[in-house]
Amino acid sequence: MSYLEVITGPMFSGKSEELIRIIKRTQYAKLSYLVIKPLRDTRQDTVRARFLDHGKSKTLAEHPAHPVNSSQQFFKLLSEHQPIILIIDEAHFLGNWIIKAVNTLLKENDLRIYVAGLDQTAWGDTFGPMGDLMAMAHVVKKLTAVCFNCGQEATKTFKLFVGASIVDPGDAEKYEARCLKCWHQPL
Ligand SMILES: [Zn+2]
Repeated sequence: MSYLEVITGPMFSGKSEELIRIIKRTQYAKLSYLVIKPLRDTRQDTVRARFLDHGKSKTLAEHPAHPVNSSQQFFKLLSEHQPIILIIDEAHFLGNWIIKAVNTLLKENDLRIYVAGLDQTAWGDTFGPMGDLMAMAHVVKKLTAVCFNCGQEATKTFKLFVGASIVDPGDAEKYEARCLKCWHQPL
């Protein structure tokens, strides 16, 4: 049976930690798996669970991931690896091609797919393909973070610097998790 689980929420909500937990379970079960993430210039090709230590981002755990930026690359990797479990990190940065690709996989294969990504941009808009992926999922795990300002449940990612790009290289030092009351759009 095919299965899609989407793990989503703001920055600092533990999405990558949850993916690492799923990867470890898959390894214990000796199942074949494939880990992918969007091809980007500025970050390492790993699933990285991080934490903030005195305002600096530190790595808690990481796992290698295959960088992908097209549907062709995606299906080529799948046919090479023949995974039972597919794990996709930072799916918000993938193009909308991923929506159709995941739909095709679910329909034509018995694949368990775990997708992690930000549900909202720093402007509060639905981030890339995440809304559709959440709608298609069998299970959505919506994680919250702790508001950096007041300590309440945080659903928003707050951008600490000025810049128009949605896809700014996301150094953790440049963002905060915020509750809706403490959050506002970037200036
Ligand atoms: Zn707050």
